[in-house]
Amino acid sequence: MKFQRLRGTDDILGSQARLWQKIEKVSHNLFSSFGYQEIRTPIIEPLKLFERSIGETTQIVEKELFQFQDRSGRDICLRPEATASIARAYIENRLFQKAGLTKLYYLGAMFRAERPQKGRKRQFHQVGIEAIGSSQPELDAEVIYLAKLFLDKLELKDYLIQINTLGCREDKKEILAYLAERLKDNLEGFCSDCKQRFSRNPFRILDCKNSSCRENLEKLNINFQEAICKECLQHYQEVKELLSHLKVEYSEERRLVRGLDYYTRTVFEVSGSGLGAQNAVGAGGRYDNLIEEMGGPAVGAIGFAFGLERIALLLGEEEEELSPLDVFLVLQNREYLKLALSTVMKLRQEGLYVEMDYQGRSLKSQMRLANERNARIVLILGREEFEMGGFSLKYMESGKQIWVSKEDLISTLKGD
Ligand code: AMP
Repeated sequence: MKFQRLRGTDDILGSQARLWQKIEKVSHNLFSSFGYQEIRTPIIEPLKLFERSIGETTQIVEKELFQFQDRSGRDICLRPEATASIARAYIENRLFQKAGLTKLYYLGAMFRAERPQKGRKRQFHQVGIEAIGSSQPELDAEVIYLAKLFLDKLELKDYLIQINTLGCREDKKEILAYLAERLKDNLEGFCSDCKQRFSRNPFRILDCKNSSCRENLEKLNINFQEAICKECLQHYQEVKELLSHLKVEYSEERRLVRGLDYYTRTVFEVSGSGLGAQNAVGAGGRYDNLIEEMGGPAVGAIGFAFGLERIALLLGEEEEELSPLDVFLVLQNREYLKLALSTVMKLRQEGLYVEMDYQGRSLKSQMRLANERNARIVLILGREEFEMGGFSLKYMESGKQIWVSKEDLISTLKGD
C-alpha cells in the first residue's frame, strides 16, 4: 500500500526547511526585541470560538473549517487562524490583570479547506503578533512598522503595504447600509457568489477577486469612507501621519476590507510580486470589540499574520547553505568502533560538526563519502592509530596528512 500526503499539505525538507528556520529565527529575535512574548495555543479549539469571532457568514466559517465531532460528540475544529484563539487565551488566563499592553507573538500551523494552488494550502503556517490593550493610533503605526521591519529583516524586496479604515462597530453598520443601498439595483454584472454575498454579508463583495466584480465596483465608485464617523477618520489620519513620520511607505486602498467580522478601524495588507493570484503575503488590523464581545474587558487590540509558505516562495531562490562538515571519521577496522563512536561524540560536544559512516562501508567508500560531504578534515582510525594512541589526520584541501595523539586531537582540530 502506498501512502501520499493529503491534498493541500506539504512536506518541508532540505533547503526549504532551512529557509523556514531562518524565517522563524528572524521572527523570534525581532518580535522579542519589540517586547512580544511567544504564545502557543492549541491546534484544536471549540468550533463555536471561530463561528462567534470570525463570523458565521464569512468565507472561512461557511466553507473552510476543518470541523468534526470528537468521540463524545463535541464540535471541534482545527484552527483556521490564531487571533480568536489568542483572544480566548487572553481572557481565560486573565492576561489583562497585568499593567500595560499584552504583546504576544505566535508561529504555527493553520487549516482551511480551500482549493489548493500555488501559495494556497489546506495546512499552512502563520507567524503573527497581537498587541492587546490600547486603541491609540500610535499602536497601529508601531504594528505596521513592525510588519515592514519583519520583511526588511528577511531581506524581502518589492512588497507593497496597503491600508484602509473600516470605522468602528457602529460605522460598519452604516457601511453595510451604504453597500446595500448602492448595490441593490446594480448586482447584474457581479458573479453568482457575490449575488449571494449581497444578502448574507455585502462586505465580502469588496473582497471578491473576480475581475468583473472588481470592475463593477470601480464603475459604481463604491466609496464607503463617507459612512465613517469623525473620530475614526481622525484616528486613521493620525495613523497615516505617524506612518509617514516613521518612514513607512504605504498606499491607501479604499476598498480594502478583511474577510473576518471582528475587524474595526485600521486594516492593512502586504502583497509581494511573484506570488501570482495569491499575492497577499501578510495582513492585519484592529479588532477593538472582539475581546469584550468574547466576555473579556473592553480593550482595543491590533495584530497581523504572515504566511510562511508565501514568504518562503518569495525568498525561494536563495538557498540557505548547509554548514560545511568539519570532520569525517573514517574507521578502518570495526574492532575500534567503540573508540570511533566515543570520539565522534566528544568532538560534537566540543561544537564541531562531525560525521562518520553508519552503513558498514569499505575504507575506500568511506573516503569517497567524506569527499562528497566536503569534509575539511578526515580522521583515520585503524590498527596502527589505535595501537599508537592517536589518529591520522588528513587535510582534504591540501592533501597533507599528519599524526595527532588523542590528547592533542581537540586542540589541533580547533586550532586549524
Ligand atoms: P488571513 O488570515 O487570511 O488574513 O491570512 C494572512 C496570511 O496568511 C496571508 O497573507 C497568507 O500569507 C497566509 N495564508 C492565508 N491563507 C492561506 C492558505 N490557504 N495557504 C497559504 N497561506 C495562507
